[in-house]
Amino acid sequence: MSGCIKLRLRLRLKLYQLEIAFDKGDYQTPTCVACGVKMVQRQGKGGSFWGCRHYPKCKVTMARAAQVLDERRI
Ligand SMILES: [Zn+2]
Repeated sequence: MSGCIKLRLRLRLKLYQLEIAFDKGDYQTPTCVACGVKMVQRQGKGGSFWGCRHYPKCKVTMARAAQVLDERRI
């Protein structure tokens, strides 16, 4: 019985670590300040930029050069 719980806890920890690893791997993608979702790369006249996933409902965009400034959530 208790061994089963231990295994579950261990699995949970593994998943948690994977989640963190995934999040770290995705650190270059900024998050929309309005929706809190990851933004997507879009192509415009002036080059590529970050746009909200919920466009056209949400019109938040971000210049790609400014993406480092958005890494304050850590
Ligand atoms: Zn948005």
